[in-house]
Amino acid sequence: MLYCYRTEWNHKRKVINMGERPIYLDHAATTALSKTALDAMLPFLTEVYGNPSSLHTPGQKAKEALETAREALATMIGATPREITFNSGGSEGDNQALRTAAIWGKKQGKTHIISTAFEHHAVLHTLEQLGREGFEITLLDVHESGLVSAEEVRAAIRPDTCLVSVMYANNEIGTVQPIAEIGAVCREKGVLFHTDAVQAAGHLPIDVKAQNVDLLTISAHKFHGPKGVGLLYCRKGIPLATLVEGGAQERGKRAGTENVAGIVGMAAALRDAVDHMEENAAYVGSLRDKLIEGLGKIPHCALNGDRDARLPGNVSFCFEGIEGESLLLLLDMKGIYASSGSACTSGSLEPSHVLLAIGRPHEVAHGSLRLTLDAENTEEDVNAVLQWVPWAVERLRGMSPVWQKLEAGEEAFLL
Ligand SMILES: *Cc1c(COP(=O)(O)O)cnc(C)c1O
Repeated sequence: MLYCYRTEWNHKRKVINMGERPIYLDHAATTALSKTALDAMLPFLTEVYGNPSSLHTPGQKAKEALETAREALATMIGATPREITFNSGGSEGDNQALRTAAIWGKKQGKTHIISTAFEHHAVLHTLEQLGREGFEITLLDVHESGLVSAEEVRAAIRPDTCLVSVMYANNEIGTVQPIAEIGAVCREKGVLFHTDAVQAAGHLPIDVKAQNVDLLTISAHKFHGPKGVGLLYCRKGIPLATLVEGGAQERGKRAGTENVAGIVGMAAALRDAVDHMEENAAYVGSLRDKLIEGLGKIPHCALNGDRDARLPGNVSFCFEGIEGESLLLLLDMKGIYASSGSACTSGSLEPSHVLLAIGRPHEVAHGSLRLTLDAENTEEDVNAVLQWVPWAVERLRGMSPVWQKLEAGEEAFLL
């Protein structure tokens, strides 16, 4: 059953299967494959099936498509084709970027790495591993705003620092970091700068040269491309570390037969997103603002992350006295599909490390709701959320012993 393919960018989703339209508000977790990307991919899932490493005509046709996509993607981020390595997505890109910088640093006797406390786990867990291998890791505070400044980065840089890794936009609270300023500081200090741009690609401008970025991670499924494909930009002159050994694909730096259809789909999807970036940001931003204003009226709640320096589509709240998971289940019953934080944290009992990093106490962090919008969402979606979220919060608070204690004054409200 196929539904919710975007058939055009007119802000009105064309639904192929009839019936109740789902209200999908989890675009930070993943997005639907766009019709544009699907159409671009189909020939490479059917008739053009050659292996790009083969010398015969079908192989060379696939190779040509691969290199056309590489050139297009490179241009879209201000890089050159040789600086682009295709891979399986954001997690692999983050791993390879950090390993690359670590190996580069170690050769020069530099084993100190700076990052932030609210990076994606693909970064944080790789840093933990590098820590066990002898690197010293400094995680910068992101404050209640969910922002880190270039001056704080500058102050943390030491003579033995090899890498700064700061994400462009946070996947849970949507805050946007000043990466051009951070990039300038790193370039001045001779330190490599990696940014996880998975949430930013297609939504915020990327120009690796102007922003002084050395390593940058992108994943296709966050901007209506297919899952399981991404790219890593690595600035010319920095030797890329190899994670996957094998054949000579990707200039010997990432073995394995290329995901040709996926790569072609990624290029088509990013082209589409970049071409409509401003109009989408204005439209999605207006939906976001309406949601922030409306949900902010619920008593004892707080918006997570800076109000202004945030992605056009990100709404993240904490509601005191409830469990985020229960809220999600109630909303799911109403056909509203949201998230409590990142997809990777859902299902675990630990509160989100991002919410803890911005100083939310455990009790409060448990009551989180993340709504991530996209150009396919509508005013009706926003109205449904503004109807059902306050209803669900009230209902859950009515059943919550914690809430009763708060109301009776036996415990103090934190929000
Ligand atoms: C989704 C995401 C990733 C992981 O990307 P995958 O392609 O799912 O591996 C990494 N970083 C951020 C910020 C993300 O949002």
